Order: sequence, then structure tokens, then C-alpha cells
Amino acid sequence: MNNLKLTNSFTRKKVIFKPINSKKISLYACGPTVYENPHVGNARTLIVFDILFRILKVLYDSKVTYVRNITDIDDKIIEASHKNKKKIYEITNKVTKIFHENCKSLNCLLPTVEPKATDHIKEMIQMTSSLIDKGYAYKNKDHVYFSVNSYKDYGKLSNKNLKELKAGTRIEISDLKKNPMDFVLWKPSKDEDPGWNSPWGRGRPGWHLECSVMSEKYLGKTFDIHGGGLDLIFPHHENEIAQSCCNNNTKNLANYWVHNGFVTINNEKMSKSFGNIVSISDAVKKYSGQVVRLALISAHYRQPLDWNDELLKNQKNVLDKWYNLYTEENGNITEVDEILLDDLNTPGFISKIHQLYSEASKGDEKKILKFNQACKLIGLFSLSKSGWQSFKKDSINVSESYIIKKIEERAKAKSEGNFSLADKIRKELLLKGVLIEDQKNKTIWKFK
Ligand code: AMP
Ligand code: ZN
Repeated sequence: MNNLKLTNSFTRKKVIFKPINSKKISLYACGPTVYENPHVGNARTLIVFDILFRILKVLYDSKVTYVRNITDIDDKIIEASHKNKKKIYEITNKVTKIFHENCKSLNCLLPTVEPKATDHIKEMIQMTSSLIDKGYAYKNKDHVYFSVNSYKDYGKLSNKNLKELKAGTRIEISDLKKNPMDFVLWKPSKDEDPGWNSPWGRGRPGWHLECSVMSEKYLGKTFDIHGGGLDLIFPHHENEIAQSCCNNNTKNLANYWVHNGFVTINNEKMSKSFGNIVSISDAVKKYSGQVVRLALISAHYRQPLDWNDELLKNQKNVLDKWYNLYTEENGNITEVDEILLDDLNTPGFISKIHQLYSEASKGDEKKILKFNQACKLIGLFSLSKSGWQSFKKDSINVSESYIIKKIEERAKAKSEGNFSLADKIRKELLLKGVLIEDQKNKTIWKFK
């Protein structure tokens, strides 16, 4: 059997993957915080771990438990509820529903378990109590903090010592902490905010604690692979490791740590705070989930990936071509190409599919099947040929009435002096491929 190689962020080396138990592979990926529509950056993480899940399933005869959580209690969700004057559950239910629709259109397999943080509060309180009892955490005025000085390996995943970590991050300042790097396990909730009774008063858990509890519950104290985007290495994963390893007296939480690079726009990370997000819903409506998927795996998962129209157009052309040889016949996929086994080298594997396509285009049925299986292994060809063709017909990118409505909204914003909103609308249209130009008394538009 070919060996799967993964770059382990913990050792910063590419190594052969050796499972704890080859009859029970364990994979955990941090899921979304459900307070706003997921964006294309989040989609990259989803797809990278979906591909890893698919590969592991083939290699280990489907004996894989893939856990991807939903963070449905968090300060960001509370802020969103105050800002939008909506109940927490209205926001989390709505965003979770959108997230599930997005996963479906991107053809991500369902994880084996999808635990919600709010269903595990009891275990979070238990873990916090246990960390206090063992001397790793302390209570101060209704808050409970983890004491980073109590864990000598703190910072090992990021390969930094405490001083370097402190210099490199924005940390929450509080007089209640013994060390400014200490992080919260439990915090009090205001009466109007969600809270649970605990030995430290009515409150809620810290974000890092959620993943430590849910991964242990479904995968055990030490499991095979833990994944997420690059931004989660510090503080999130570092803190998960500290809590879990101290509480369980283990050497590591997961044996392999896998992190994907960012989706960027003009070389800037796609994120809400930069105001440059493209929602998955918009992207799949415009280009189809298949095209978005192919675009997101067109670069190696550890490299940044710049999101732009050119990239998407190219992927659409590739799929148009590949669909010429689409077949309904599936066959059983029993092996994974060594290019893909080499640290999920998707761009290398895409080149290989091009090669398989040329070989198959001479009409040999076995070769056509091989080409189709290669596409399906990485989650492509989820639409039938007619599905693909009808999608293309339906997707007149953005309707004229939508553009006109947006131009009117922008004119109104400008007349009210709200130039930041006007600019935001212009950028939104640009991301949809629509260029607008202000003339003397009117605004004209055209497709890029
Ligand atoms: P969040 O909902 O912000 O906690 O993010 C969910 C997942 O998406 C995490 O694994 C993040 O690391 C990942 N993520 C967020 N933004 C990006 C981005 N621009 N590119 C790639 N991954 C991202
Ligand atoms: Zn997590």
C-alpha cells in the first residue's frame, strides 16, 4: 500500500502518516463559528479536509471517524445578536443551515459526527473543574483562566516561546490574569446573554475549551490528525493542546497537525475585518460548486491561493472540457495516486487528470473510467453531465435588475454622504465581475 505523507505543523516536516489504530482512523477539523455566512476562505478549509477524509476512507476501508464541530456559542455570535437585534438561536440556526447548503453544493461528504458546542457544556464545566483541581487553572472573579506558566510545552506548535508569542499577538488585557498570556476557560455572562450555571456562576465556555472537549469525546485523548486554517495555530490550537495535554497527562492531543494556507484577494487574507469576503453562497451561485471546488484545490493546500475571476474562468473551461468524457459509471475506487498521497498534492494530481483525459479521449472505456474515478476521488463530477449543462444555462452571472438596484443603492449612499457604503457596493459589484463608472449625471456599468 502506498504511504500517505503529510506535513506535520508540529515538527514542520513532511512525514509518513502512521495511524494509532488502522481500523479506527481519527480526524478532527475545526468547524465554523456560525454568526455570518461562510466565505470562500472557510470553503478552502472544508475542501482540504474533505479531500483528506476521502483519501483516508480509500486507504483504510472507510474506517475513519471525521469530526467537524459547530461553534454555536462565542463572543462574535453574541455581538452579532446585539447588532442585528436577533436572538442567538435565530442567527446560529440560520447560518448553520446556510453552511450545510454550502457544504452540499461544494460536494463535501458529511462528517461522521458534527457536534455542537452548546450540546457539550456539561463536559466543558467538568474539564474546567478538573484543570483547577490539578493546578493548571485558577478562578478570579467569576472567570477561570488557564495558567500558561503551568505547561512547559506551551508554544511548541507555533515554535515560539512565551515572550515571542506575546510580542506577536493581540492579547486580551485583563487585571484578572496572572500572566497576560493566560486564556479564558470560563467567563460570566450578562443576564441577557446566553449562560449556564456552573461552580463559578452563570457563564459560558471559552472557544478553545469547546474543541478540546468535543475532540476527546468523539476521538479520545490522543487522536491521529487535527486540522484547520493557518490562523488557528495560535492561539486556538496551542491552547487546545495545553488544556487537553495537562488535563489528560498526555504528550500530544493529535499526532499530526495539518494547516491550510489562506485564500487571499489581491494578496490580502480574505476575512470579514478586511471587508473583502466572497460568500460561498454567492460564489457557487455564480460559478457552481464544482468550479469553486476545483479553483480551491488548484494550488497546494499549504500555499496561499489568490481568488480572482481569471482563476474561476479557467476552472470552468477545464470542467467544460472534462465533462466531455463524463460517465455515470462509478466502479469502486480502491487506490489513491501517489501524487495525491504526497502531502495532498492536488495541483500535481490535476495535471495527472489532464494526462488521463488525453489518454481517455481516444475512446478506451477502461481509460475513460480511470479518468472519471480520478475526478470523483477529489469530489468532482458531483453533477451529472445534464446537470452541468443546465447549471451553465441558468447562471447568467448577475441579472441586470440586480446591478441597477445596486447602482441605485450606491447613489443613495453617496447622496447621504455614506461614502464607505458606496465604496463597499462598488467593490461587491466588482467581485461579481461588474465594473461601474460614474459619468456626469449617471453611472454606467459593464461586465469586466
Ligand atoms: P472561523 O469560522 O473564522 O472560525 O473559520 C473556520 C475555518 O476557516 C478555520 O479553520 C479558519 O482557519 C479557516 N479560514 C478562515 N479564513 C480563511 C481564509 N481566508 N483562507 C483559508 N482558510 C480560512
Ligand atoms: Zn477548534
